[in-house]
Amino acid sequence: MRGLVLDAVWEPKPDYVVSDWEKKTGKAISGSSVGRHPKLEVREWPDPQLGPKDVLIEVRACGVCGSDMHFLETDDDDYILYPGLTKFPTILGHEFSGQVAEVGEEVEILKVGDMVTAEEMIWCGRCIPCRNGYPNHCTNLEELGFTIPGAFASLIAVDEKFCWKIDAIAERFGDEAKAYEVAALSEPICVSYNAMFERAGGFRPGHYVAIFGAGPIGLAAAGLAKAAGASTIVSFELSPQRLELAEKVGADYVYDPREVEPAEILMELSKGEGFDFMVEAAGAPQLTVPEMEKALAINGKIVQIGRAAQRVPMYLEAFQVRRAQAFGAQGHSGHETFPNVIRLVASGRLDLSPIITARYGLEQTVDAIARATARADGKILVKPS
Ligand SMILES: [Zn+2]
Ligand SMILES: [Zn+2]
Repeated sequence: MRGLVLDAVWEPKPDYVVSDWEKKTGKAISGSSVGRHPKLEVREWPDPQLGPKDVLIEVRACGVCGSDMHFLETDDDDYILYPGLTKFPTILGHEFSGQVAEVGEEVEILKVGDMVTAEEMIWCGRCIPCRNGYPNHCTNLEELGFTIPGAFASLIAVDEKFCWKIDAIAERFGDEAKAYEVAALSEPICVSYNAMFERAGGFRPGHYVAIFGAGPIGLAAAGLAKAAGASTIVSFELSPQRLELAEKVGADYVYDPREVEPAEILMELSKGEGFDFMVEAAGAPQLTVPEMEKALAINGKIVQIGRAAQRVPMYLEAFQVRRAQAFGAQGHSGHETFPNVIRLVASGRLDLSPIITARYGLEQTVDAIARATARADGKILVKPS
């Protein structure tokens, strides 16, 4: 089959200590410290081998994620920028939907022809965090499109337990092609949902919500805030195109943070009460959190979704005085997240279809990722079939 393959040279940076586990597994805990001279290319790759519990999925749509850009973009020494778990070569792509084409002999839930999306985090179910109910913190994690072959390909094999049926979305849109596109947004929406409602415990209808960053995660957060009954939603973002998208999916006010003082705006809009719920989806917490803490309502919450290898100056006195909390969040698995997101999309209460701003064929996947690096689009999709 064809797929977008990432290859890189295994060349640990001089100050990076390669652990025994990394040597044994061939995985890099910090890809950006090990993977040099990356090459991304659509080429032949062996067809997936179907395990007994796996389904073979014909990929219909797969979104370009910020992490995909960080494999194409490099630092001054030509190391990849992606700081997380990686193993190369592998096929990238992890935000996808498709149709089941074949099932392994022990498959019980799915059948050929089913329309599905899937989790990206292949949690083991056996480690202590998994057994305690925290699959997003699995210690034996494999990740589709990072450590094992992903979905910028015509085919992918996944254990059925990671797949979620999207028939309800197809019924909503009455159009299979559209349903596959919208369902490919499930994974990033679930990242925002997990952060806002599972990790940070959500907010009350009527609360004021501010979202820093209007990339796909921030846009999903705006849509979810609207669906969950926020009374005022404010988005901050550098790209004017993305600010427009934020308005389309639910933001009442949008600003370029270079042109205003975000904390002042939030205090003004809340008539001095402050914002109840603030989402960091910009990946620049060293800039955004100091603004957020100046605009905290009493009982205010800040949830960190954007990834940044940065220390953040925080004035904890503000958290004491405002009885405030900050939450860290990662992942999208468990906690009813996928089923609830699929329900919201199927109900029409969450419609993020406007954020899909470009579509590419599989052979043009590198162009799709290159376009994403301009950070002006909403979600760019690759459509293998
Ligand atoms: Zn992603
Ligand atoms: Zn586990």
